[in-house]
Amino acid sequence: MPQAPLQPGTLYLVATPIGNLEDITLRALRTLRECNIIAAEDTRRTNQLLKAHDISQKVVSCHKFNEAKRSQVILDCLENDQTVALVSDAGTPGISDPGERIVRAAIKAGHRVESVPGPCSLIAAIPASGLPTEEFHFAGFLPHKSGGRKKKLNSLNQTSGTLCFYESPYRITKLLSELQTQWPESEVVLARELTKKFEEFLRGSPAQLVEYYAKRKPKGEFVVLVHRT
Ligand code: SAM
Repeated sequence: MPQAPLQPGTLYLVATPIGNLEDITLRALRTLRECNIIAAEDTRRTNQLLKAHDISQKVVSCHKFNEAKRSQVILDCLENDQTVALVSDAGTPGISDPGERIVRAAIKAGHRVESVPGPCSLIAAIPASGLPTEEFHFAGFLPHKSGGRKKKLNSLNQTSGTLCFYESPYRITKLLSELQTQWPESEVVLARELTKKFEEFLRGSPAQLVEYYAKRKPKGEFVVLVHRT
């Protein structure tokens, strides 16, 4: 069935794979193919994705260091009734990735914004974790400094639902120790390398997971889910 053409003057937020290259929707591919310009967090990475799908398009960079400046270029395109697709390195733009600023600016300027939904590591992790899914709270990345991390964790004491964090392999053991102090009785799930060859879900108390990583070096990308009882 033929699909409606893209709407002029629209900013499309296009989700891209978080590991498995098959995880891209037909609509995402069509949007990338038919838009006037793609704004990408990393042009090289996006060009690889485009090449894999035989799409040739104009790609401009839009990352956290130039998002403010780039917003104006994107707004100018939208003003001229062009269609812009925003993509991040992986997953859903605006979720711990550039996007929020541009979206707000586009809405303020009266432009249309559409989501082209697809992969998001947060959403991939929650249903397979086995933890309660009815209510959850996404806290993103904790600050880097210990004081800021403690403050943030304390602020979550009264927050109900499963807590969800993003964390890098360099700080995952630090986070597990912090969880051991903060909520020693909690159930923790580490969703690691989702959709990739070495995907795994590690489940246990903070103490058990601290012990697990005392014996091996953490590798890959992690979504951390915490159920407090
Ligand atoms: N916008 C992205 C999304 O929708 O998933 C998230 C971008 S954020 C900069 C990167 C973080 O997301 C990683 O440090 C990790 O916490 C999480 N992440 C991304 N891909 C992942 C994967 N395949 N498996 C587990 N966690 C992942």
